[in-house]
Amino acid sequence: MSETETTEAAAETKPARKGRQGTVTHPRREAEGYFATILRAAWSVLEGMAVTFSYLRRPPITVQYPDRTPQPVSEMIPERFRGLLEVDVLTCTGCQACERACPINVIRIEIGKEGKIRFIERFDIDLGKCMYCGFCVEACPVDAQAPGDAEVTHAIRFTREFEGAQANFSALTYRYVRPGDKVVVAKTKKGQVLPTVARGERAREARLAALRLNPARVAEESARRAADPLLRKKPELELAAILDVTRPAAPKAEGH
Ligand code: SF4
Ligand code: SF4
Repeated sequence: MSETETTEAAAETKPARKGRQGTVTHPRREAEGYFATILRAAWSVLEGMAVTFSYLRRPPITVQYPDRTPQPVSEMIPERFRGLLEVDVLTCTGCQACERACPINVIRIEIGKEGKIRFIERFDIDLGKCMYCGFCVEACPVDAQAPGDAEVTHAIRFTREFEGAQANFSALTYRYVRPGDKVVVAKTKKGQVLPTVARGERAREARLAALRLNPARVAEESARRAADPLLRKKPELELAAILDVTRPAAPKAEGH
């Protein structure tokens, strides 16, 4: 009998041990099961990591919002997205169909008249109330084509703009006619498609104007400046300058 056979025979003559549930398990089988379990566990870890490792060579699909995108996020959104509502008053006939169609009085239009000329004195959209149902857009009889858009839209339309958060609720009212202005209504024929500005442009302008001209924000800023001794010492930082978020950067002096 060889040495190996002697060892195996000796192992088999050893008393069997009782398993956890009272079953009798042979020591050699118990050792095999132990290593098989380790192998199975190692294999399942490798299987899981194979999925993880497969992502190492794939290009990222996440977007570092908002400052590291190759183009503005609003331009990557589908055209039919229901973002902030806007109106291009230069294509608006002042028919007020959108105002009548709105079930919750979000739109407020005021029309004036001088002789035979009709003009729009007010066109406000309170986006704090709007539920983006689209009734107003469907009611608008004016067809308009914005550059870059595949589809014809209307004088009032949804945009792909979505950043409408404001610190003051009253700044959610976007005024598409500046107070004091009179915009002569557009004339259009049946079937005519009027050219209009790029979608979202009017909404961005109105949002910035709402930020600048919002009385609640001006009051808040005045109170903040009154309470801050550093700001009080800097009269050159006028309130208007602080609130004017559209102010272009100062031109660089020549030679710099
Ligand atoms: S989308 Fe609906 S709720 Fe909003 S202004 Fe138009 S009709 Fe009114
Ligand atoms: S936006 Fe359209 S529906 Fe509303 S007043 Fe102007 S033309 Fe009429």
